[in-house]
Amino acid sequence: MKKENFDELIKSIKEGGKIMRGEIKPSRKWTKQFPKRLGQTPIVCPSCGNDTGFTQEEFMHYVATTDVLCPHCGCVILSANNGITW
Ligand SMILES: [Zn+2]
Repeated sequence: MKKENFDELIKSIKEGGKIMRGEIKPSRKWTKQFPKRLGQTPIVCPSCGNDTGFTQEEFMHYVATTDVLCPHCGCVILSANNGITW
């Protein structure tokens, strides 16, 4: 092999290495998905009787800064002032 061909080969290997290193960079997103309702107690709206989509377990350690409202009728399920109302 001629020296200039060898140099070309080395150059292309280095180029390839750069591309590979570029491909290795972390692009994976870690999205945690919790099974929302598994073994949890759904909160039924005391006003309209519909499932609010929330669970009691979700609010066990929840500090209310704003009222949590029923998505169906808009009544207060969890009050920021008075705590849990169900
Ligand atoms: Zn409701």
